[in-house]
Amino acid sequence: MHDVIILGAGISGLSAAKLLSEMGLDVLVLEARDRVGGRTHTLHDPRFGYTDVGGAYVGPTQNRILRMAKDLGVDTYLVDDSQYCLTEIQGSVRRFVGVIPPIYNPIGLLDLNNAIRTVDKMAAEVPRAAPWKHPSAKQLDSMTAKEFIERMVWAESTKILLDIFIKTVFCVETHEISTLCVLWGIRCGQGIERMSNISGGAQERKFVGGAQTISERLAERIGRERVRLSSPVVRVEQAGDGVTVTSERGETSVGRFAISAVPHAILQMIRFHPPLPARKRQLIQRMPMGSVIKTVTFYDRAFWKERGFSGCSMSDVGPVDFSIDDTKPDGSHPAIMGFIQAGTARRLSLGTLEQRKESVCQHYAKIFKMEEFLNPKDYIEKNWMEETYSGGCYSSIFGPGVLTAFGDALRQPVGRIHFAGTELADEWIGYMDGAVQSGERAAREILLELGKIPVDETFQPEPPPPADVSLNPTESSWLTGALPSVDTLLRFSGIALAAGLAWFFQSKL
Ligand SMILES: Cc1cc2nc3c(=O)[nH]c(=O)nc-3n(C[C@H](O)[C@H](O)[C@H](O)COP(=O)(O)OP(=O)(O)OC[C@H]3O[C@@H](n4cnc5c(N)ncnc54)[C@H](O)[C@@H]3O)c2cc1C
Repeated sequence: MHDVIILGAGISGLSAAKLLSEMGLDVLVLEARDRVGGRTHTLHDPRFGYTDVGGAYVGPTQNRILRMAKDLGVDTYLVDDSQYCLTEIQGSVRRFVGVIPPIYNPIGLLDLNNAIRTVDKMAAEVPRAAPWKHPSAKQLDSMTAKEFIERMVWAESTKILLDIFIKTVFCVETHEISTLCVLWGIRCGQGIERMSNISGGAQERKFVGGAQTISERLAERIGRERVRLSSPVVRVEQAGDGVTVTSERGETSVGRFAISAVPHAILQMIRFHPPLPARKRQLIQRMPMGSVIKTVTFYDRAFWKERGFSGCSMSDVGPVDFSIDDTKPDGSHPAIMGFIQAGTARRLSLGTLEQRKESVCQHYAKIFKMEEFLNPKDYIEKNWMEETYSGGCYSSIFGPGVLTAFGDALRQPVGRIHFAGTELADEWIGYMDGAVQSGERAAREILLELGKIPVDETFQPEPPPPADVSLNPTESSWLTGALPSVDTLLRFSGIALAAGLAWFFQSKL
């Protein structure tokens, strides 16, 4: 009998396995795919060296994944955003440096500033570990992000930019996701700017050799013989003082405990005996994955850099909602990474790879105004909606009503089965960092049950990383806080106008 059987060799499952084996426990990891890494997937090919078609970017305050990378000897490199970025809104393309696109209409600018400030403030009030405990949880959870945006913003440009933000971060349309879920995600990601930025934000760095290297090294550290690939788990049975896990191949393994590090969205593929409690069963029917196709387009030269552009862009028309330069740090294999997301991803899934390649290249050629984009050297894409063992990406979202009705069943163990996966994190939920946190938390729950750690060590805050991976904080300027909202401006203008008229008529009497 093993001490712990872990389902899934993504970052969360392997992080759990590492911690448990370091504490002297005997672990077995069962992985459905013929590779480790799950939602991180690095392709290797002489044509382009290596390229990430899954999770890739890390940044400041993602201290758990940065600590893990350092421990495993995986270095990071900076993503280049030193030159101009582009934004396409309502057919108009503008260039800018930094994160906030240029809005030349003063009402639009005030409105965008106020929207970011308001959303960040509301997000900061969401309880990280239990958003359903927010005093206005029911109200926030009954409203879609679309309804919330329509109520809050004045300017069409603000609405479009918030739409792009939600599409890019959650891979869904704004009408599919609850406001509470969006605010929780922003709380866990430390604010809109931190999540949107390249420098100082979540897209600041990539891993040398690709993000899947983290899982490869984790598997080596745990011992390859303890990680069984091509073993989809189909049945988990709890009886007496053990858990029996059966794979599709009919192999059974017995453990004192089990950790499911399989995404909740696809947990229905596994039969549990006794069945999962009613609310857990209902919860896993209500955590759909986002829709995304990640594309990488290679060129002979990084001609966009030669003309002053970083390669980053965002667009409300698409098909690419968001792009970033993906040239290797030594300048080799010039490339642009582009995400096709939400409704556009679903629509373009109906076409062929050749058609998508053509529309991605045409998109770049149009917004960068460079014909060279029409002649790529190579085009790679991964449609995560097609993946049986992910069901979509980057992670699950919660539609209206789900967090308040079922949220507390998320992390609750069921007998000897504990649950991990980035969706269960309370910092950087949906990210690789959240995967590490959830895996280590599930492992500590078992260590607690075995009397190996005290109760107050189950949820551990992460200390700041060593100096060489410590990165700049994102700080808002005083002006951002001081500028009025459009509402305040209109109210103030109304009062000023009324006072002016009163004075005028009084002086005439
Ligand atoms: C296109 C894309 C872009 C992303 N960008 C970023 C980014 O830039 N930065 C970032 O931090 N994150 C990003 N992410 C998200 C990040 O990759 C995930 O948050 C993280 O990898 C999740 O790890 P996990 O262990 O929780 O889940 P997973 O990686 O999904 O691991 C679960 C594992 O369980 C296995 N499994 C499933 N069913 C079974 C079964 N029945 N039996 C056994 N095994 C099973 C799966 O094969 C998988 O290996 C991105 C993801 C995608 C797809």
